[in-house]
Amino acid sequence: MQFARTILRDAIRFALPPRCPSCGEIVEADHRLCPTCWSQTEFLGQPACARCSLPFDHDRGPAAECAACIAEPPLHDGLHAAVAYGAVARELMLKLKYGRRMAHAETAARMMARVVPSGLDLIVPVPLHRSRIWSRGFNQAVLIAEGLSQRSGVDVARDALIRVRRTPTLRGMGASKRAKVLAGAFMLNPRASQRVKGRAILLVDDVYTSGATTDACIRVLKRAGAARVAVAAFARVLPDREGD
Ligand SMILES: [Zn+2]
Ligand SMILES: [Zn+2]
Repeated sequence: MQFARTILRDAIRFALPPRCPSCGEIVEADHRLCPTCWSQTEFLGQPACARCSLPFDHDRGPAAECAACIAEPPLHDGLHAAVAYGAVARELMLKLKYGRRMAHAETAARMMARVVPSGLDLIVPVPLHRSRIWSRGFNQAVLIAEGLSQRSGVDVARDALIRVRRTPTLRGMGASKRAKVLAGAFMLNPRASQRVKGRAILLVDDVYTSGATTDACIRVLKRAGAARVAVAAFARVLPDREGD
């Protein structure tokens, strides 16, 4: 029965044309946005802050940093996102997380390959709490991390971090409240300590909002001796724009 179902699913996949991962419009090839979604997407690149890649309106030179990084240097060693969070990215991620379109993780990884730095030793996904994995069946950050690993050849340590506490949505909370909620929410898997020590790590999440979640993970990884921790996300909420 399971086998028959697999054959049926593959047959349907071959019979149906590729669709835009965001709006579902028919497109030329898998993992491509349709022209409308493409034109509505802000792809992140240069010119940008040397530390956090926040886009600049004009080129301020290769070492220029944004006001936020100057005021308070971030914990991460580089922040890399493929696109600005908006309607197109939101829809694509909703289809992945709640519509179980697992192939969209590969779409995200393909779009992120352009911005991911070189010189990495290990890829670590931001973990979900196990109760959320039970209800959803998978962790989208793990799927994206595996897509990045396939493209770069860098290993993934999918369970290097453990989410020990379930945390409420951080939306609407100020920075200190978010940090308080996340304090102690993550721990290092004792089995991963040798893989993390002295390594250049890429921490992967689907959407980067305030950085509170990744900061909590970075603290754990650096306490465990990680040499560098850069962050990669599919989409990044830019300041003054709405996210969730
Ligand atoms: Zn589309
Ligand atoms: Zn910056």
